[in-house]
Amino acid sequence: MTNCLFCKIVDGEIPSTKVYEDDDFLAFEDIHPKAPVHVLVIPKRHVPTLDDVGAGDVELLGRLMDRVRHVAKALDLAAGYRVVINVREEGGQEVFHLHVHILGGKRMPF
Ligand code: AMP
Ligand code: ZN
Repeated sequence: MTNCLFCKIVDGEIPSTKVYEDDDFLAFEDIHPKAPVHVLVIPKRHVPTLDDVGAGDVELLGRLMDRVRHVAKALDLAAGYRVVINVREEGGQEVFHLHVHILGGKRMPF
């Protein structure tokens, strides 16, 4: 997707501070952190929202969440962390490339 911010981060057109990468997933620091640790985990393939994950792609979600806990472990969040997926406008989604927020480093208020 040519005009997608996170696809540009995947392609290296826009810089990011990467904390994890493999063939299919990338994790990088959020540019406006809302907690002492705030990292985004994304599939490299462009999927706009959680609702756009097709029935045949459910495996992608499992693998994505597996990477989330792997990244959380690498970030030393043994005391716990929060995982957030904002979905479309009323969910507060601003970047329409599926991503999981990992928030931690302090006790999270609801
Ligand atoms: P969301 O509201 O769930 O779509 O979250 C998008 C997140 O992307 C926000 O927390 C932004 O701070 C973050 N963000 C926007 N631009 C960048 C960027 N260039 N690098 C890293 N994070 C970004
Ligand atoms: Zn994209």
